[in-house]
Amino acid sequence: MARPPERPGFPARIDLGSRPAPAKRPAPSAAPTAAAARAPAPAALPGAARDAIPARGRMVQALAAGGIRDPEVLRAMGAVDRHRFVDHALVAQAYEDTALPIGLGQTISKPSVVARMVELLMQGVARGADGRPGRVLDIGTGCGYQALVLAQLASEVYSVERLRELHEKARANLRPLRVPNVHLIVGDGMQGFASGAPYAGIVSAAGGEQVPEAWIEQLAYGGRIVAPTVQAGGAQALVVIDKTRQAIRQTVLEGVHFVPLKSGVS
Ligand code: SAH
Repeated sequence: MARPPERPGFPARIDLGSRPAPAKRPAPSAAPTAAAARAPAPAALPGAARDAIPARGRMVQALAAGGIRDPEVLRAMGAVDRHRFVDHALVAQAYEDTALPIGLGQTISKPSVVARMVELLMQGVARGADGRPGRVLDIGTGCGYQALVLAQLASEVYSVERLRELHEKARANLRPLRVPNVHLIVGDGMQGFASGAPYAGIVSAAGGEQVPEAWIEQLAYGGRIVAPTVQAGGAQALVVIDKTRQAIRQTVLEGVHFVPLKSGVS
């Protein structure tokens, strides 16, 4: 079997796009050190984007203080520029712990919710011989933020969105980052995405009446689903499903507020 492609480096080929180009002919003595290469060059950045870098660090600290323990998840949250995924007018709020509108009545979840979902997924995901999660299915691409967080952790991410306009927005957001292991699909995520199955894990950013049967079918043995699901009484809670050859075990966790899982494509 072909080896999965290497995980993109951190911070996953993401920079703010406006650093000065490196000098054409650096003198040998001026070769950049690793530390210098890593250092941001904030002087050339517009104000809000420049402020985003320390804000992102503070967001990660807040996530850790709020109970996110998995260092890989914290690293992934710290590697992705959330401000690239929100409208210009909202950039200053990009690292606050709030959901933000992304158009068509949909929202990008708050960072603490993304981190919680991803951490739950990582705790139960099926892992390859190298210890890494394999393919992950992300339901509800939205602006593409969570797909990119997942791409820091899993070998491949398949992300399905039912609204073409948001799919295109996610595509535009991710294009300049050249992330090789995210695959964006327009489709009804309630059907899962059979071509990528079986999945090591499935995570949904939209909540249905129940976890669709297709997701359970497309989940690998040893894998996990994390999805908001409407409970008796009408409120949503996070539901975790673990699938083994012997059993399908469901655990209902805390209450959450996600947009509804809808069928069909539009
Ligand atoms: N993970 C996203 C969150 C987007 S909000 C992000 O990081 O931005 C949830 C998304 O789920 C919405 O864009 C909504 O259109 C989408 N959605 C709802 N039902 C769906 C379905 N059946 N298939 C695919 N996407 C769906």
